[in-house]
Amino acid sequence: MAVTSVCQGYDLRPMKLTVIQGTPAPDTPVERVRKRLRAHKPPEMLQCLRCAGREVIETRTGMVIKNGRPQGGMRVFLCATCHRNGERVVIA
Ligand SMILES: [Zn+2]
Repeated sequence: MAVTSVCQGYDLRPMKLTVIQGTPAPDTPVERVRKRLRAHKPPEMLQCLRCAGREVIETRTGMVIKNGRPQGGMRVFLCATCHRNGERVVIA
């Protein structure tokens, strides 16, 4: 019996993947502001990739008290806008 690549109604031959044009974001006033902010950003300025916000919160994890002062720890910058919405988005 010959081996067939079409079995029980399923075509098992390798499929060729093609890239499609994604759906653009809806044209709402908020999305327009985000687009404008992304377009005018200086390259060295920190900006959130999710909400385009530029307000950041600096956090440190694992600080120690040395000579009576808190020191060390891993420093991370979080988006303040996303943080207010209950999400943790690391910017830098
Ligand atoms: Zn954000």
